[in-house]
Amino acid sequence: MNHILKCPKCGSYGLSEKCKCGGKRARPKPPKYSPEDKYGKYRRKWKEGQKIK
Ligand SMILES: [Zn+2]
Repeated sequence: MNHILKCPKCGSYGLSEKCKCGGKRARPKPPKYSPEDKYGKYRRKWKEGQKIK
């Protein structure tokens, strides 16, 4: 469901593989603790809030 992808080039998160910077987003691999993942979650929530408007 929530497969957020991360661009290794610019570090941006998104749901589409293609990134604005031209890079290809891939699923981040945080098997353990990852602070970045937390931020991704936060960002996604924020984005969803924007969409509703
Ligand atoms: Zn990128």
